[in-house]
Amino acid sequence: MISKTKNSLTQIRSDFTILDQTINGKPLVYLDNAATSQKPKAVLDSIRYYYEHDNANVHRGAHSLSVRATEAYENAREKLVNFINARSSKEIVYSRNATEAINLVAYSWGLNELKAGDEIILSVMEHHSNLIPWRIVASKTGAIIKYVGLTQDEEFNWPEYVSLLSPRTRLVSIVHISNTLGCVNPVEDIVAKAHQFGAKVLIDACQSVPHKPIDVQKIGCDWLVASGHKMCGPTGIGFLYGKQSILENMQPFLGGGEMISEVFLDSFTCGELPHKFEAGTPAIAEAIALGAAVDYLSQIGMSNIDAYEDQLMTHLFDRLEEIPQLRVYGPKKPGRAALSAFNVDGLHASDIATILDEEGIAIRSGHHCTQPLHRLFGASGSARASLYFYNSFQEIDIFIDKLKETLAFFGV
Ligand SMILES: *Cc1c(COP(=O)(O)O)cnc(C)c1O
Repeated sequence: MISKTKNSLTQIRSDFTILDQTINGKPLVYLDNAATSQKPKAVLDSIRYYYEHDNANVHRGAHSLSVRATEAYENAREKLVNFINARSSKEIVYSRNATEAINLVAYSWGLNELKAGDEIILSVMEHHSNLIPWRIVASKTGAIIKYVGLTQDEEFNWPEYVSLLSPRTRLVSIVHISNTLGCVNPVEDIVAKAHQFGAKVLIDACQSVPHKPIDVQKIGCDWLVASGHKMCGPTGIGFLYGKQSILENMQPFLGGGEMISEVFLDSFTCGELPHKFEAGTPAIAEAIALGAAVDYLSQIGMSNIDAYEDQLMTHLFDRLEEIPQLRVYGPKKPGRAALSAFNVDGLHASDIATILDEEGIAIRSGHHCTQPLHRLFGASGSARASLYFYNSFQEIDIFIDKLKETLAFFGV
């Protein structure tokens, strides 16, 4: 269990070799976790173990290595099933990342199910990955996209959402936790309300699955996506959760090996779920390593991670208040995520990030793949510090102290 006590955090940090290094002569302070998380030894070991002992293609061979590779690959899927409380392994489709998972739904459900005049509801805070696929679908089908805006507190505007819903709404696709605002959207209510109108709901859970206990049955969503690399897993692997009955009725996304049952020269039949959506040789080692990441997170406990990050968030925001000239985006209240995107007049976000890097502090600058949201704020980008369970209160202090020094140096 993570606590403020030194021992347990030291123990956790010792699992992340990468954190124990200096950058420009200063201890690394890694605060870019919303872009990608670091990977514990257990995850790295699982990749090495797989290639040293079990490497073979999955689902194809009768030989021992292939059987072991297949078992490990499918076992990792079972871990994901339990981690998000899906009903069965038929509901978990591996993808390269969350982006590919959203595109899968857009291409195999959206292009086939939507027609001119149908409506899609997104929000202005969506990541580009949850905007572009729907723009493509809209341009090909004539479907119309409507956007939920923000409240004064820069959160999901519930009344506006309710006013946009109608019998024409076919799809609602909304981020659970915004990677820029840090607000936690009321996904259970969003789903329930959409279902009253017969619309389907996709939840972009990239910033929630790594940080909180997630129960897809409780949320009630039709699809949910996440990326492995933001939850201690490797790049190249993510997943789509979908309700079995919905996945059954969806067209395949990519065609090729693995996704078929029978192939003739003039036709084919699809394989069973979830393989129907996993054409070609998958990222086997990465999937197994994602399973190891799920084990690692589960051992610490997602509720413990959530509670500790809440303390980190409170400390971060208490200290940010010492710098009144900062324009911090998103709600300033309990329950928000432990990340903060901000700007300061007279200093470019990328300059802040570059100067902090000289002090060993890794924060992000740019549009964080939310250009429309930044445009709404009249900004081309922002600086962003984002935390994870291996960060310490001391690292927040180092970040704030150095940020203050930077602003003082520039006289802003
Ligand atoms: C990171 C992120 C994505 C995209 O994830 P990829 O791993 O790049 O596919 C989508 N939505 C949100 C909210 C994210 O934070």
